[in-house]
Amino acid sequence: MSQQVRVRFAPSPTGALHIGGVRTALYNYLFARQNDGVFVLRIEDTDQTRYVAGAEDYIYESLEWLGLIPDESPKVGGNYGPYRQSERKDLYRQYVDQLIEQGHAYYAFDTDQELEAMRERLKAAKAKNLSYNAITRRQMKNSLTLDAQAVQELMDAGTPYVVRIKMPLKEEIRFQDRVFDWVKAHSSTLDDKVLLKSDGMPTYHLANVVDDYLMKITHVIRGKEWLPSSYLHVLLYEYLGWGEQRPEFVHLPLILKPSGEGKLSKRDAQEYGVPVFPLEYHDPKSKEILTGFREEGYFSEGLINFLAFLGWNPGTEQEIFSLKQLVSDFSLDRIGKSDPVFPVDKAKWYNQQYLKEMEDSRILAMMKSRAQHQGISLPDWEDAKFTALVDLMKDRITFPGDILEEASYVFQAPESYDEKTLKKKWNEVSSAFVKDLKDTFAKDEGAWEAEHIKHLLQDLIEKQELKFGKVMAGVRLAVTGLGGGPDLMVVMELIGKEETLARMEKALSELNK
Ligand code: GLU
Repeated sequence: MSQQVRVRFAPSPTGALHIGGVRTALYNYLFARQNDGVFVLRIEDTDQTRYVAGAEDYIYESLEWLGLIPDESPKVGGNYGPYRQSERKDLYRQYVDQLIEQGHAYYAFDTDQELEAMRERLKAAKAKNLSYNAITRRQMKNSLTLDAQAVQELMDAGTPYVVRIKMPLKEEIRFQDRVFDWVKAHSSTLDDKVLLKSDGMPTYHLANVVDDYLMKITHVIRGKEWLPSSYLHVLLYEYLGWGEQRPEFVHLPLILKPSGEGKLSKRDAQEYGVPVFPLEYHDPKSKEILTGFREEGYFSEGLINFLAFLGWNPGTEQEIFSLKQLVSDFSLDRIGKSDPVFPVDKAKWYNQQYLKEMEDSRILAMMKSRAQHQGISLPDWEDAKFTALVDLMKDRITFPGDILEEASYVFQAPESYDEKTLKKKWNEVSSAFVKDLKDTFAKDEGAWEAEHIKHLLQDLIEKQELKFGKVMAGVRLAVTGLGGGPDLMVVMELIGKEETLARMEKALSELNK
């Protein structure tokens, strides 16, 4: 039997989860589900200086909203826990010791000033590479340059130290990436990265490799920005004797700014008016409020569909995919190498497509929460009435909240009248018609429903031998203040008889001045 697929999404809780991270989570999820595998969430919080309170909860809430629920995580546990790296601190030490013992890592005692002095020296000598590496380490204070006794004395005196990898001087490191195929780097271009920090915490590199091994991860699916780190990771797998069990690497292309230049950043959200975070985020440091797809009225299903296409395509014309379809059709082999540009309009397009098919009740709930979010108070209607409004507007909007703006006249009488329509369509005929229609409505005792309103209107048009097109714009202008919009009979039903009559009255007095 082949090995069970186990993948992990391994964010660091350093702030809001960027949409690129969400795509990484999605691809991991799809691959896991497709292979009856396991989707692990691991929180990589070894860098205490970058830790942001609340960021972990933000990750859970985002994944939950999107329906990408991990099978194993700090929250639900699992057989390979703990799933928060800070809680695994003691576990890493033995691997560091093993590496030191085997001569693949060493202690380094250099102070910040000494490191700085090294860089200054190198700069003065016009060296291109300023890093701590196979060459420069020879002049530094570490267990490769000091004798055993000196090292012991430093240790005994409690001198702070880090543990660094001993990068080989001349070695080519190669591996086959699932997306980028064979990639290679020469060890002389790589530095002696710190594996264990002076606070006893592992660095990302060590913790990442050890955890992927211990958690039996079979595929590492992550952003391309980690590709340069992978060479070090490959070496660590070799040195720790896990070469055979090394997971397959799948590096995903970057998501570029809408302009195509550089990585999509949070500033782009402001510039292009589209969120780059799944949920609204209140930055505890800068106090900034960053917009979220959820609060802006995006459907999680549409967002997933949109994100799936940022790096992958099915090879057909089909663009609409449910999560279930994605699970069956997604394939690592159809992930492209080139970095996709973030297509702002496409995100909206997807939302429109999903909105058209969405149950009214969900659109309504989102419209209401948008109203609340924006401090707009809605009338005290029954849901059936709101639902009729949603139905009326569905084909004309991109986001549920658009209804609040696009159909604001349903809630509030117009304060002004569309200039163009006024000039072109408001004349003696239309004004007289509005007056007669108002009187007809006032006298009528039938139910105030769209169908009935339509009959009254048609009867009057026929009686006066007018044309529908000649007079309707005037009626719409009087009732809504606009020159166009959805079915006016339904609009009038929603507005209510009394209010409709009041608006006609007001238009007649204001527009005929
Ligand atoms: N903690 C890394 C991040 O924040 C994870 C990279 C990886 O998946 O190896 O993106």
